[in-house]
Amino acid sequence: MGLFFEINDLVLILDAKGRRYMFSLLEDGEFHCHAGIVAHNDIIGSQAGSSVESTKGTTFRLLSPTLSDYILKMPRGAQVIYPKDHGTIITYADIFPGARVLESGVGSGALSISLLRAIGPTGQLIGYELREDFAAQAQRNVIKYMGDDLAWNVEVRDIYEGIDETDLDRIVLDLPEPWNVVSHAEKALVPGGMIISYSPSITQAVKTREKLEDSNFGMASTFETLLRGWHIDGQAVRPDHRMVAHTGFLTVARLLSENTSANASDKILRRHK
Ligand code: SAH
Repeated sequence: MGLFFEINDLVLILDAKGRRYMFSLLEDGEFHCHAGIVAHNDIIGSQAGSSVESTKGTTFRLLSPTLSDYILKMPRGAQVIYPKDHGTIITYADIFPGARVLESGVGSGALSISLLRAIGPTGQLIGYELREDFAAQAQRNVIKYMGDDLAWNVEVRDIYEGIDETDLDRIVLDLPEPWNVVSHAEKALVPGGMIISYSPSITQAVKTREKLEDSNFGMASTFETLLRGWHIDGQAVRPDHRMVAHTGFLTVARLLSENTSANASDKILRRHK
């Protein structure tokens, strides 16, 4: 993302009414909408923050899409986790730079983008996704926003059948039956590692908590993020009348046992030789 728009960059164009459109810049490309045509060549070489005019004389402001802009506009196979929940997941699951993280399912790849940003170039993200078409869509979505120089691979597989990786720092779940992953996660995480699960329904969260209760995980908690916008216009200052009142519940827990994976015992044996 440079100062000037280049071919293949994503651009967000904004009209005076706040309507937004997003597309990738192509040489000689055209964007068609109610306000006429915007020539990509008129944008290429322009600075973010400057304006462009359509064939019908509508002025659009040019910006690079933020992660939230992008997620709300990108093509979706599966339902995405909304931006308001990303910050909570990153913070409460303590997704840190350099972390080794497993994510399942990958869905449309919305959360993958935030996870990749949080772990940075020294981290590693592994995705398990059941559906091949979703895995492919997620890869297209993520690469379009982040480029393809990523420490990320997506495997088409069922996480309920097990996790091959060991010594993971974090496991992030958005699955219909997350409780099926608890026993696999116990073997796959480092001691003190964390699991976080996003579920739209509270019964899913309760079942997951029950399974966590019977495991080596502890410090479990379940919560949700409520985000309420405010209407601020002169003297009229009040909460918005409408809000997204529900997306999902988050359940987070930490692994409180020692590492029992074959990998770890190997390391211990080697150390004692
Ligand atoms: N968090 C994603 C959306 C995930 S939707 C985003 O923000 O874009 C849930 C995904 O879980 C779906 O793609 C579904 O195919 C996948 N899934 C369901 N059961 C699974 C399983 N047992 N193993 C792996 N993936 C699974």
